Amino acid sequence: LVDDRIAGISSAIRVIPDFPKPGIMFQDITTLLLDPVAFKNTIDLFVERYKDKDISVVAGVEARGFIFGPPIALAIGAKFVPMRKPNKLPGAVISEEYSLEYGTDKIEMHVGAVQEGERALVIDDLIATGGTLCAAINLLERVGVKVVECACVIELPDLKGRERLGDKPLFVLVS
Ligand code: AMP
Repeated sequence: LVDDRIAGISSAIRVIPDFPKPGIMFQDITTLLLDPVAFKNTIDLFVERYKDKDISVVAGVEARGFIFGPPIALAIGAKFVPMRKPNKLPGAVISEEYSLEYGTDKIEMHVGAVQEGERALVIDDLIATGGTLCAAINLLERVGVKVVECACVIELPDLKGRERLGDKPLFVLVS
């Protein structure tokens, strides 16, 4: 049952208060990775949802989108594209800036990694304010890729990231 699998995933995620700074409840997915059944169920639930959606690109956001994205991409027969922090990718990049609580950050993607008209799934471990996913969506849409949906293991609903995504669909396993 889907609900049993979700319950197992939820209980495998460890919450660490006040990391990396006071007031943040850090959702630690490394404990989910230590549980092969819960980790596999996580991947399976995404694969079941996306296998027949004609997706050719799974775009994973650094760093924890790099853990969940590749097994999903392999299972649905899509390519995996890393969306990286600045100055990590060696080739020509396009980049998108986004705002944080204090200051700004940036993500980058290799030029030529995706083609106009491709259909993408954007994946990360968690959505908080939605700023990171919005930047990933913008980057892909700027080069003519259709973002079919965003997917995360965890949503922090109080931070209203879903609203920031507007009408872009968001699928999460645990809220
Ligand atoms: P946001 O752009 O605000 O939606 O933040 C999402 C990004 O920050 C994701 O890449 C998460 O891995 C990370 N993040 C934000 N808040 C948390 C949290 N409470 N626990 C773990 N990761 C977080």
